[in-house]
Amino acid sequence: MGNVPRALVTGGAGFLGSHLCERLLEEGLAVVCMDNLITGSMANIDHLFGREGFVFVKHDVTNYIHVPGRVDFILHFASPASPIDYLQLPIQTLKVGSLGTHKALGLAKVKGARFLLASTSEVYGDPLIHPQPESYWGNVNPVGPRGVYDEAKRFAEALTMAYHRFHGVDTRIVRIFNTYGPRMRAGDGRVVPTFINQALQGKPLTVFGDGSQTRSFCYVDDLVEGIWRLLTSDEDDPVNIGNPAEMTVLQFAKEIVRIIGSSSEIVFEPLPEDDPKVRQPDITRARELLAWEPKVTLEEGLAKTIEYFRNAG
Ligand code: UDP
Repeated sequence: MGNVPRALVTGGAGFLGSHLCERLLEEGLAVVCMDNLITGSMANIDHLFGREGFVFVKHDVTNYIHVPGRVDFILHFASPASPIDYLQLPIQTLKVGSLGTHKALGLAKVKGARFLLASTSEVYGDPLIHPQPESYWGNVNPVGPRGVYDEAKRFAEALTMAYHRFHGVDTRIVRIFNTYGPRMRAGDGRVVPTFINQALQGKPLTVFGDGSQTRSFCYVDDLVEGIWRLLTSDEDDPVNIGNPAEMTVLQFAKEIVRIIGSSSEIVFEPLPEDDPKVRQPDITRARELLAWEPKVTLEEGLAKTIEYFRNAG
């Protein structure tokens, strides 16, 4: 396998990381999947063992990363990524966004690898501009409970640009909006797995606040396509990847109940602190630079995700 390009995916056993590992293998790359398994899971990558060029390394990337041999691409996806995960792991979240990004960029520098940072729509915080273009600097509360994730990712973006400008590292930054699909963790607290599992079990769907806050949900295959296009492009400024189809959380809950044909009722619970009131990507840049836009409808994407949770449950 020495002659084929090799990618390192940090957080490779997570939801997005595992889908990326799969895609990179399909593109003919060798893949080093690295994860400390705090929120990732071996079950997400079980099916990749035995595929030519795939190896798994259990490692916490906040510590020095040693990867012998060639590394052509580094996709830095390691981080707790759901609000309840980063509230339970606030220090780890800050460390992986700062120290982990530093280690991954250092490795990219010595290997001459192209580096892609998984950033987030959370850099826009509770946005005052809607929809959010990449040129918006955001409205983040640094000392609120979500600040550990938002500021870690904002720091990671700044560090990535510093390595790009100062060390000449070839870098990409993707700002990922709400994404869903198979291999989300049932208990991760995010709205998609939570509502689907509540509806499948006939339990009440827990809408936070009055459910008027909006989100825009992108199916994982569309996201991975966008990331692949960004990785293979020349674009070093941040690019939003997400689905602009926006809806309120209450509408989303009703949609899940309808599609599953569940008898679940909807109940209202307190809105978490600093929960963004609106979120929708402006994907003009992705359209123009990458000729990318989402293809999978919510109906199709949810059908596949529901199927996954039916089988997992
Ligand atoms: N949410 C909800 N009920 C739940 C979980 C989440 O109403 O059981 C809401 C949450 O308050 C937010 C939206 O759904 O407004 C999306 O939450 P998620 O945790 O998926 O990610 P976020 O977009 O906030 O990072």
